[in-house]
Amino acid sequence: MNNPLEGKGVLVTGASSGIGRATALALSGAGARVAVGARRADRLRALTGDAPGEMLALDLDVTDPESVRDAVAATVARFGTLDVLVNNAGVMLSGPILGADTAEWTRMVETNLLGSMYAVHAALPHLLSTRGAVVQISSTSGRTASAASGVYAATKFGVNAFSEALRQEVTAQGVRVVVIEPGFVATELTSHLTDPTMRAAARDMADSMRTLQAEDVAAAVRYALTQPEHVAVNEILIRPTDQT
Ligand code: NDP
Repeated sequence: MNNPLEGKGVLVTGASSGIGRATALALSGAGARVAVGARRADRLRALTGDAPGEMLALDLDVTDPESVRDAVAATVARFGTLDVLVNNAGVMLSGPILGADTAEWTRMVETNLLGSMYAVHAALPHLLSTRGAVVQISSTSGRTASAASGVYAATKFGVNAFSEALRQEVTAQGVRVVVIEPGFVATELTSHLTDPTMRAAARDMADSMRTLQAEDVAAAVRYALTQPEHVAVNEILIRPTDQT
């Protein structure tokens, strides 16, 4: 059977843990050649050892446009092509607006929003020539904001807005844009929360439901990327069944 991912060149940002790691493994298992980028090089080395196919580890800080350009260039240099960008790197430092540490706001905007924009900017010339795809890991917070998630939600609303503009700009050239919006996924994401109330709330939420696993989101990404070329899966909203 024809395998749409066989031999494709893929770059996954934020692949050292969680959804990015699981997605890199899923796409590698589907025959793609996968470049994995993040700051924790030791994690990436371990990941390449676990990969079923060819995998390239790259030092990447998405908040640095030069680092992003270098990662895209290294992917193309190694694989000779870039067919898919999975824009996944992200941080969630939730908390109320009053009294917030605005350095955390800066970090979220620079990582989740600007970082993913830099990656699209660097990858797009290649994706246009391969008629490739961009997968944007957004969130349910990209559709609904809630108290204590104002800035995180603003970054994910921003990702969704940027993705829709991108889709309109490149769809006629055959580039597909996929927005994935997960609900609660059991990953390291909440371990970076600095607000003790937020940490406790995240723990309670995790204990109260059968959460998604990173592999569930990776399966959604793989589904979107293995549809026939005339099918553009633009958006997947995926929640734990138990999440209201
Ligand atoms: P993790 O914390 O496990 O993964 C986050 C990844 O982002 C890590 O690989 C981390 O790597 C990377 N990252 C963070 N900052 C940077 C940076 N400056 N440059 C490069 N990489 C960076 O969490 P998840 O897997 O849950 O998160 C992945 C994405 O999924 C995020 O965009 C998140 O917003 C989104 N998401 C998660 C949900 C959840 O419930 N977990 C729900 C909805 C969306 P390193 O630190 O090594 O650089």
